[in-house]
Amino acid sequence: MTKKEFENLQKRLSYSNESAWKVLNEEEEVDDFSKSYMDFMRKGKTERTLVEESIKILEENGYVPIEKADPKKEVKAYKVYRSKALAIYRIPKEIENGFNVIASHIDSPRIDLKPRPVIEDTDVALAKTHYYGGIKKYQWFNIPLAIVGVIVKEDGESVKINVGNEPGDPVFVISDLLPHLDRDPNKKCRDINGEMLNLIIGSKPLVFEKMDSAVKINILKILNEKYGIVEEDLMSAELELVPAFEPRELGFDRSMIAAYGHDDKICAYASLKALLDSKKIARPTVVVFFDKEEIGSDGSTGAKNQFWLPPLKKLLSLKGKDVNVFFDELIENTAVLSSDVSAAVNPTFKDVHEMNNAAILGHGIVVTKYTGAYGKAGANDADAEFVWKIRKLLNDNKVPWQTGELGKVDVGGGGTVAKFFAERGMHVIDMGPALLGMHSPYEVVSKADLYSSYLAYKAFISNFKM
Ligand code: MN
Ligand code: MN
Repeated sequence: MTKKEFENLQKRLSYSNESAWKVLNEEEEVDDFSKSYMDFMRKGKTERTLVEESIKILEENGYVPIEKADPKKEVKAYKVYRSKALAIYRIPKEIENGFNVIASHIDSPRIDLKPRPVIEDTDVALAKTHYYGGIKKYQWFNIPLAIVGVIVKEDGESVKINVGNEPGDPVFVISDLLPHLDRDPNKKCRDINGEMLNLIIGSKPLVFEKMDSAVKINILKILNEKYGIVEEDLMSAELELVPAFEPRELGFDRSMIAAYGHDDKICAYASLKALLDSKKIARPTVVVFFDKEEIGSDGSTGAKNQFWLPPLKKLLSLKGKDVNVFFDELIENTAVLSSDVSAAVNPTFKDVHEMNNAAILGHGIVVTKYTGAYGKAGANDADAEFVWKIRKLLNDNKVPWQTGELGKVDVGGGGTVAKFFAERGMHVIDMGPALLGMHSPYEVVSKADLYSSYLAYKAFISNFKM
């Protein structure tokens, strides 16, 4: 065999994966899309604010609350579930054989305030916290934090809080110990535990005589004047600490975006835009944003409660379908993209990956056949037949994509919402962009991977049939 013959054979037989930038020649579209994503991320840092931003976009595009939709016509509607989850429906007049669903989650790792947060110690007012989701605690020290959420007062009025995100707002900080005094002779520095994540919220006493809690009472007075609340109201509240940083372009070449909460708001935004930008839909389509994925999808707004199904069932029965007869069949033929992020290889920490099956930054959306850990435990392991359909869809539509596994075997792992669709009998596969620094306060994504994800979701909505 000649060298030339060998090379031809090699090219024909082996798989190779290349940079998505080579395939994406719409550089302007990639940049415009990235800018609109960054705008969205500035406002939608928590599940509640993201739902609010999404509704604005949906209403601008003619979507209505599902209760107001006319079931006789093509339905473009949404359902807000307990202010923290959202389902978007695009249902044509005629229903064929199942739905196309894209599901992501809009909660991100963060730090929550405890029900009785405010304490004072040594003339500093602090808020006690309990972290939410998988964080590396040290990453949350010494960075500007914003407080976002809702407080329900004794009279039932709900007050929205959002401090630290606007220019001119104060921010909040969890302060670390200075290196000079962090020298345990037996260790490099002391271990950080959850009760050390105390947020600094004030330091000025209300009065100067020797009084108990003069700094704390001053903070409560300020909160009372601004929001009309008293300390007990903080018990019926959800107050989340999120990084106060803005999303920014990253690198001299501006090829990446650094932001808080790409996991998994990036898939929410890409799927929302994909739905709005799809001129035609291949099948009835539902885009769902869940809460609570980062703590195992428990809770009524998490994916263990498939809140989007009852409104759909009701809609179909209003259309005159006998849902008792047809719904199970429709569900069996439903295809779901569990749209969640994956881990890109960080060149500084390559040892946790098996490079033949690791996702590379900038190589397109990652198709993950299975997640789980320690022998695929807890995974939805997508069928070969379904993977083939997705592979063909992406190739036919020239979407840059790659495969990826979350780290070496037995090194770690993770789960997504996929299995909560699988257990209902739907076809489901994981698909989303790969990040650097996932779950950190400032995650990194390639613009090419963001755009590839959008293209993939658009191809799925416009063309996918079982
Ligand atoms: Mn995620
Ligand atoms: Mn996550």
